[in-house]
Amino acid sequence: MDCVFCQIAKRKIPAKFLYEGEEVIGIKSVNPEAPVHLLIIPKQHIEWKGRFNKKELALLGRLIFVAKEIAIKQKIFEACKLIFNVGKTGHISHIHLHLIGGWKKKIPMKNI
Ligand SMILES: [Zn+2]
Repeated sequence: MDCVFCQIAKRKIPAKFLYEGEEVIGIKSVNPEAPVHLLIIPKQHIEWKGRFNKKELALLGRLIFVAKEIAIKQKIFEACKLIFNVGKTGHISHIHLHLIGGWKKKIPMKNI
C-alpha cells in the first residue's frame, strides 16, 4: 500500500516518533501549525468511509487516549486542540488525530 502513514508506521519512511505503542504511533508534524503539533496515527489503515467496525472504533478511542497522555507529557494539557480532518478535505485518507498546542501568548479561539 502506498499510504504514507502506513509506511511511517512500518518505519519505511522516517518520522520523528514521540510515541509508539502496539496499535498507535505519535509523530511530529512536518508542517506544524502551533508550537506543538503532533499526529496520532493508528498503525492499522482506517478511512472515513463506510461504518467503523468494533476494532476500528476501539482504535479511534485509543487515539484520544494516547493524545491525552502525550498532551500531559508535552505540558500542553491545559490548552490544546484535537482535530480530525476527514473526507474530501485534501488530507491523507488514513485517519489521524492532530494534537496541537503550546501557544505562549494568545490561544487561537477558532475551531480550525
Ligand atoms: Zn494507511
